[in-house]
Amino acid sequence: MRILLKNQTAEDLQAFLARDGVTLSVARRIQASAIRRGEFPAPAPGLSAKVLTAVCTRTAIPHLDLVEKTVSARDQFAKYLFRGDGPDGFEAVRIPLLHRADDPKYVVCVSSQVGCALGCVFCATGRLGFIRNLAAWEIVDQVVKIRADSPHPVRGVVFMGMGEPMLNYESVITAARILSEPCGMAISAKAITIGTAGIVPAIRRFTAEGHAYRLLVSLTCADPARRRELMPLEGSHPTPGLLAALREYHDATGRRVTLAWTMIAGVNTREEDARQLAELTRGLPVKLDLIDVNDPSGRFRPPAPGELSDFRDALRRHLGMPVARRYSGGQDIRAACGMLAGCGRRMLP
Ligand code: SF4
Repeated sequence: MRILLKNQTAEDLQAFLARDGVTLSVARRIQASAIRRGEFPAPAPGLSAKVLTAVCTRTAIPHLDLVEKTVSARDQFAKYLFRGDGPDGFEAVRIPLLHRADDPKYVVCVSSQVGCALGCVFCATGRLGFIRNLAAWEIVDQVVKIRADSPHPVRGVVFMGMGEPMLNYESVITAARILSEPCGMAISAKAITIGTAGIVPAIRRFTAEGHAYRLLVSLTCADPARRRELMPLEGSHPTPGLLAALREYHDATGRRVTLAWTMIAGVNTREEDARQLAELTRGLPVKLDLIDVNDPSGRFRPPAPGELSDFRDALRRHLGMPVARRYSGGQDIRAACGMLAGCGRRMLP
């Protein structure tokens, strides 16, 4: 059976190829060559032609197809539509961080599933339903392909594209490991963020495994009944259990918990929402990321400037924790948070 390169860490690759005489340092060379150049390495001292022949027979290098790339004229966000091991497309977004002339770079927002089962009402991916999990290589190759297409390095990865990363846990963690390996994309583990809508057992597992990746939890509403209307997973993963898991995470890591809050005018930006959030998180150090809802259907709108400023004042009064407003770019090309729906059109081979 052939295994796919880019689909496991160098250590796991070495274990698979050990009987062919592949050492860990050779496995790293194979991994680096497959990821950075998309090819097998050439014979070299320490890597004989015989070993290479065995490697080529037992492995294959998979590639995503780039179907479409769209760049925002407004803010230079770029959306990439890929196709992998199936007929449906999925999207990744290149986020430009070009304000520092001496250190221009990108962060890539990757998809972990095609579609999503969780059905958050404000999310275009959720409206598609679940189609399939992406393999680790399909996640890694989103970053590889975007790096190859970009004039500046990719320094960070966020798992906040299509899908719920914690429902594809094995592939997501494997991809994060490969992306952070020196022989992979060498992206600092601290610059890799795993997002989740709040899959409690997976958060507990993430804590127990002691990963250095950042965790970001989309809370969006602190009132369980109203949260359930926005995020149906509240029914299966209720807020009290979620908060208990986050307290355990903080106790184990000492890290502040980052919560994302998709702001919807008239729904979750009232004084009462700030007060409920403060009550819910009392004693837990959090950081709140405010993100405008992006809903092309027009059903949900982000708060107007006055409503936003009142909400921020209320958060200052009640919560007293760091609050940041996150710019959600690429709205004109439907690349902003909650807008990815690349597999809306099923693509035939
Ligand atoms: Fe799924 Fe995330 Fe969209 Fe919710 S917001 S439906 S978890 S992709």
